[in-house]
Amino acid sequence: MQSCDFQLSSFVAGFWRIADWQLSPQQRMAVIKRYLELGVYSMDHADIYGGYQCEALFGEALALQPKLRHEMQLISKCGIKLMTDKTPDTYLNHYDTSSQHILRSVETSLQNLQTDYLDLLLIHRPDPLMNADDVAEAFQRLHQQGKVRHFGVSNFSPQQFDLLQSRLTQKLVCNQVEISPTNMTTLHDGTLDHCQQHRLAPMAWSCLGGGNIFNANDPQSLRIRATLETIADEVDAENISQVIYAWVLALPSKPHPIIGSGNIQRIESAVKSQHITLTRQQWFSIWQASTGHGVP
Ligand code: NAP
Repeated sequence: MQSCDFQLSSFVAGFWRIADWQLSPQQRMAVIKRYLELGVYSMDHADIYGGYQCEALFGEALALQPKLRHEMQLISKCGIKLMTDKTPDTYLNHYDTSSQHILRSVETSLQNLQTDYLDLLLIHRPDPLMNADDVAEAFQRLHQQGKVRHFGVSNFSPQQFDLLQSRLTQKLVCNQVEISPTNMTTLHDGTLDHCQQHRLAPMAWSCLGGGNIFNANDPQSLRIRATLETIADEVDAENISQVIYAWVLALPSKPHPIIGSGNIQRIESAVKSQHITLTRQQWFSIWQASTGHGVP
């Protein structure tokens, strides 16, 4: 098995919402440059983001300063087909991890991102029809062609991860999973234990619950927000987002949180949270606020 020297930045920049930001190409480039200045060089995309529009918005900005390509890692994902894709025969959202689809999706991502290689390609979601040999064949081809340097998965269980890994000559470098105080599933279902066991730091998506944590009024969100506010005072944090990132960063699998904001002040504040350390009791009070009960 080939070992690998792939290293994500401590935080990752997420571009799922880039179309919502309503920015000009120059303004999008300003966000990208600020990320790079802050040491956030891993840029997360997927073929389907924004109904297949987001990668092209990023690529359009990158074309203003193409030399920056070599200062960043471009990550993309494939394996989901939406009805909004350009093929006329797609009438249902579904998964497609066939070799043919993976190869075609990477070609499109490269074109849209205006680059000739991806640093990392992830299979977006586990596909019950995934034939691991077929995926391995596509990965091998993409690697040989120099189109993709490293491979990983997203939202995979440990078993699904191990199945795909068993067919590959290259090591999978990452599982990108949801981690937030509003969704702690991967903390308890073995996913993060598997990451720690294999020393594969996960990427963490929607750490802020996709923004819902700030305004949802269900009992769980109210409990979590009140606890985060108390702890923000205790640790002198600028805001409750910093406490959430510190809570994610405290996990021993060493997650790389993906920042989903297009707001430069929020991005700067998020990155500063790596200097905040929570006590175990502060960490567990957020866990308790999430579950609604104390530890058994
Ligand atoms: P998130 O950080 O949980 O949510 C970001 C949203 O929260 C943005 O709309 C942001 O708005 C809002 N927000 C941040 N601070 C706020 C505040 N103080 N008050 C109100 N709203 C606030 O992350 P996410 O965007 O859901 O996900 C991050 C990245 O993870 C995505 O870009 C994508 O790359 C990746 N992802 C992967 C998967 C997967 O299946 N692999 C799934 C989902 C996401 P502003 O822009 O206005 O700050």
